[in-house]
Amino acid sequence: MRMYDIIAKKRDGGELTTEEINYFVTGFVNGEILDYQAGSLLMAIYLNKMNKRETADLTMAMAKSGDMIDLSSIKGIKVDKHSTGGVGDKTTLIVGPLAAAAGVPIAKMSGRGLGHTGGTIDKLESIPGYKTSMDISQVIENVNKYYIALVGQTGDLVPADKKIYALRDVTATVGNISLIASSVMSKKIAAGCDAIVLDVKTGSGAFMKDLDSSFELAKEMVDIGTNVDRNIVALITDMDQPLGNTIGNSLEVIEAIETLKGNGPKDLEEVCLIIAGFMIYLGGRADTPEEGKEIAKRKLYSGEGLAKLKKVISLQGGCVDVIDDYSLFSSTNYIYEVKAPFKGYIQAMKADEIGKSSVILGAGRESKEDCIDYGVGIVLNKKVGDQVNIGEKLAIIYANSEKKLNQCEAMLLSSYIISDSPVEDKKLIYGIVTKDGEERW
Ligand code: URA
Repeated sequence: MRMYDIIAKKRDGGELTTEEINYFVTGFVNGEILDYQAGSLLMAIYLNKMNKRETADLTMAMAKSGDMIDLSSIKGIKVDKHSTGGVGDKTTLIVGPLAAAAGVPIAKMSGRGLGHTGGTIDKLESIPGYKTSMDISQVIENVNKYYIALVGQTGDLVPADKKIYALRDVTATVGNISLIASSVMSKKIAAGCDAIVLDVKTGSGAFMKDLDSSFELAKEMVDIGTNVDRNIVALITDMDQPLGNTIGNSLEVIEAIETLKGNGPKDLEEVCLIIAGFMIYLGGRADTPEEGKEIAKRKLYSGEGLAKLKKVISLQGGCVDVIDDYSLFSSTNYIYEVKAPFKGYIQAMKADEIGKSSVILGAGRESKEDCIDYGVGIVLNKKVGDQVNIGEKLAIIYANSEKKLNQCEAMLLSSYIISDSPVEDKKLIYGIVTKDGEERW
């Protein structure tokens, strides 16, 4: 078998066999297939797509490329959660502690930022001292004792995804249903949980920009999960504007803490309660998702969710004082107010451009080797539907370089679409996909 022939077959719209897919994944992981050939195949897949069988084969080949984690020594139904990536998406930091506080074991292995979207591991590492790498035996011990561990991918979990993910990020091949589904589901299958809640983002800040392709991605992932006996649901949630008001690592952790204190933005709180509700339901701690949501709400307003976050920070070596003293996070040299150029209503926001502007500040990586600047980011003072007067504050930029600040301001200003007429409220959740089909809300 030759990689050249596999690339040519997909370039010409052919269907890859199971053997060809296994050959690519194994060869790329062990270094026999080089980046330029793998990149060419990814582009051919991006342009010519894969069918369901090819996607399922790619997922299983990736899942088996490294360790398959055995969490069977954790008591109870282990529930995992995964977002397909968004801007300002700090839900894991909130729903993990809420579900754990309700007695659901959460052994969450998260990833880093990809493209214009942020990653939970980068956010957690903005907490001074927090260690995201942990031995699997320690993860199991912490979850058995405290119901929660929030870590990076332990051991040699899906090395194929690490390599393919990094290559997709720099070859403009992220936004493809088969590549996203195989990336997400290979990790979920290898991570060993029993049940999975997927948060499929839709809109300008998501990899899937329209509702139909978001439902299609959700269905693909739910089918893959169901075929390997996972209890899995996918919620389709709005990403036509950033979630909550903050973008940037420590700013997002602070917003997550505020949300667990009961002071979070309403959109973020509502999405988190619904996701946590499903996690509590799939974890067997509620009879319905609605009851799960009520439990999550009680855990939030009683402070038990916040106590769980505090516990996980202390268990993983982080400074717990950040919970009450935000000055312990990295600060920035510049704090700058962006003013509205004219009056009106915020009609729309280009969430992907806002994500890119935060990457320019240093909140994400422009290349694989870049270091994250944890303190930089954006706080949005106005979001879709809000009325604004000329000169009023639209957002605040936290930056460490004047040049980057200026670039970010220009991008932010062009990301806000302001019009004369009032705007209807947007939906936060567009529907759900389960093994029984889809429901549009
Ligand atoms: N999240 C992932 O884990 N993989 C993708 O490809 C996109 C989002």
